[in-house]
Amino acid sequence: MKATLAPSSLTFTSLPYSSSFHSSSSSLLFRCPSSSASMTTTTRGNVAVAAAATSTEALRKGIAEFYNETSGLWEEIWGDHMHHGFYDPDSSVQLSDSGHREAQIRMIEESLRFSGVTTDEEEEKKIKKIVDVGCGIGGSSRYLASKFGAESIGITLSPVQAKRANDLAAAQSLAHKVSFQVADALEQPFEDGKFDLVWSMESGEHMPDKAKFVNELVRVVAPGGRIIIVTWCHRNLSEGEKALQPWEQNLLDRICKTFYLPAWCSTDDYVHLLQSHSLQDIKCADWSENVAPFWPAVIRTALTWKGLVSLLRSGMKSIKGALTMPLMIEGYKKGVIKFGIITCRKPL
Ligand code: SAH
Repeated sequence: MKATLAPSSLTFTSLPYSSSFHSSSSSLLFRCPSSSASMTTTTRGNVAVAAAATSTEALRKGIAEFYNETSGLWEEIWGDHMHHGFYDPDSSVQLSDSGHREAQIRMIEESLRFSGVTTDEEEEKKIKKIVDVGCGIGGSSRYLASKFGAESIGITLSPVQAKRANDLAAAQSLAHKVSFQVADALEQPFEDGKFDLVWSMESGEHMPDKAKFVNELVRVVAPGGRIIIVTWCHRNLSEGEKALQPWEQNLLDRICKTFYLPAWCSTDDYVHLLQSHSLQDIKCADWSENVAPFWPAVIRTALTWKGLVSLLRSGMKSIKGALTMPLMIEGYKKGVIKFGIITCRKPL
């Protein structure tokens, strides 16, 4: 979750990426616009590749710093799940704090149910090894490991998160089942086919190369295993539409600046990427309505005494982050931002 608190030391202050989609979604790579747009010769192409690599490195560093600096404050206010809650569309938005935390657990349960993991007892029993890709401080891993009696490994770019996640696992006597490390989702340090459940809860939006991200998820999942991606997306483009409207892109760009996001993609783009692999049961859904109460709640907590003190302690950049939150609400309301779940299974 990129919500409450902005980084106190951004390494770049303007958005370095823009989407350069190719409609064949086999190459969903997001490049620096200034370096990709006019590259026609090999030399200039090499320059573009180098520039993209530098930008990717800057993004990785920025994400790590962002979470190093903000995770403690998030945990203090919201606990160990750094993702949206799942609500009934007509539920009251005045839920208590514990209601929001329950909604975050419900997000995990609904994701498992949607993917088919918990609708079949035999399926459920098969889950012995889990990877939590973009694990935050490990809330999902600990929950899933306890639920399934499984082992879970979480990866994050933030050393502070990895340490806190391991400390929490030890405090909950789960260290023999659950562990966390710093590693890149785009180059996972795991052998092929290792995991029965590949879990990515609100980390996909940070990935600058969606094709590589999906390739890695597909590579590490075991035959018969499930992949669950829950992520921020932009709306699907309509037939013949090549890009979002300029005002829509502008809105997303403003969010990217604060929350360290490269260009966004749609749930359709994820589905196309998964279809380019031999996978079964590819399904997706738009849960935007189910998460609608979440951001207003985050803003309300930021405006409490405790929230304000935390924000002030974090400095101007955090305040800027908090001021960006209404853009998320605007994005959902105007239908530009979609909260997507995409799941599938690797054939046996
Ligand atoms: N899934 C967690 C945290 C979501 S916050 C939860 O639901 O609580 C996003 C997480 O994605 C952070 O932990 C961040 O470090 C991680 N992340 C972003 N880009 C990543 C990358 N390239 N490799 C590994 N982790 C990444």
